[in-house]
Amino acid sequence: MTTTESFALAFDTTPSPARRADAEREAILADPKFGAKFTDHMVTISWSEERGWHDAVVKPYGPLSLDPAAAVLHYGQEIFEGLKAYRWADGSVWTFRPEANAERLQRSARRLALPELPEADFLAAIEHLVRIDADWVPSAPETSLYLRPFMIASEAFLGVRGAHEAEFHVIASPAGAYFAGGVRPVSIWLSQDWSRAGRGGLGAAKTGGNYAASLLPQAEAYEQGCQQVLFLDAEERTYVEELGGMNVFFVYADGRVVTPALGTILEGITRSSVIRLAEERGHVVEERRFSIDEWRAGVESGDIVEAFACGTAAVITPIGRLKARDFEIGAPDSDPGALTMSLRDELTGIQYGRLPDHHGWMRRL
Ligand code: PMP
Repeated sequence: MTTTESFALAFDTTPSPARRADAEREAILADPKFGAKFTDHMVTISWSEERGWHDAVVKPYGPLSLDPAAAVLHYGQEIFEGLKAYRWADGSVWTFRPEANAERLQRSARRLALPELPEADFLAAIEHLVRIDADWVPSAPETSLYLRPFMIASEAFLGVRGAHEAEFHVIASPAGAYFAGGVRPVSIWLSQDWSRAGRGGLGAAKTGGNYAASLLPQAEAYEQGCQQVLFLDAEERTYVEELGGMNVFFVYADGRVVTPALGTILEGITRSSVIRLAEERGHVVEERRFSIDEWRAGVESGDIVEAFACGTAAVITPIGRLKARDFEIGAPDSDPGALTMSLRDELTGIQYGRLPDHHGWMRRL
């Protein structure tokens, strides 16, 4: 698909005439249900094959107008991102590695035959939205404003090909602390009947179809009393891939850290940050194939001492138990591992400004 090199776009702003009153906003921020309430504004940038990226606007939050023949509604040509704005103790607001989200959106765009949004425009879109809705960034511990950039194919055309018109939008939703009562290990359900992504498929792209494919197995996980579903590779159903919305890591007694190699999984920004932090502490980090049998045998022999999941939503979450049709690993009430918790403290410390940002990961808005 065409890569549109544009100079940074100028944004036109139309402030919302229906901004929520302070009291209403404060009530929402006091108890935000994840992803259910949205701020007063949104950003939209349009794209067409002829004009490239154009008409960047900050406008009141509201419904989209789409032709019923819009390609996204028929062929799922859609991609998205997820990142957070964090309020520091001094009141300032920051994002974590947003350039990495901009790059991943470009990789997803290539795979889905959508246009690539230049990084400068992605960053400007986020900055404009968070600035105008700055009051929506909560300040209680471990809370944040979740940002959801997404792109859809808007061309009204039923032919099966990459659309010639697209729209990029950013919306924002306040997020409470993921673990209100302290970090608790999660139970995960092994999906042995369903796959999420195959070789050469969409697994590495952040696109709606991957999540649609995960919803039935995720519902099974809930039925089994588990919070997340774990997918195996689609060919051999042997190798660990990732959870419905998180990457996974395993810690060996000798200090080695193992995480599934890239290819058919999402390249998590938390994953790459964890690899960096673990390596800086002197851990050898192996990105490779990791089978369920290696996990079972490692836990039985005592070689594997910790397992954790990671992603923007919950940062780093200990895995207490894996439940499968005919076996279980671990226990739901097992104690979180020491490395798991200390990496979590380090990463959240950087994100909330409690620790120095040696990597240049934080970007002030
Ligand atoms: N895998 C999947 C399938 C996800 O949806 C996410 C969340 N974006 C992740 C991994 C973790 O990615 P990140 O650390 O960038 O949030």
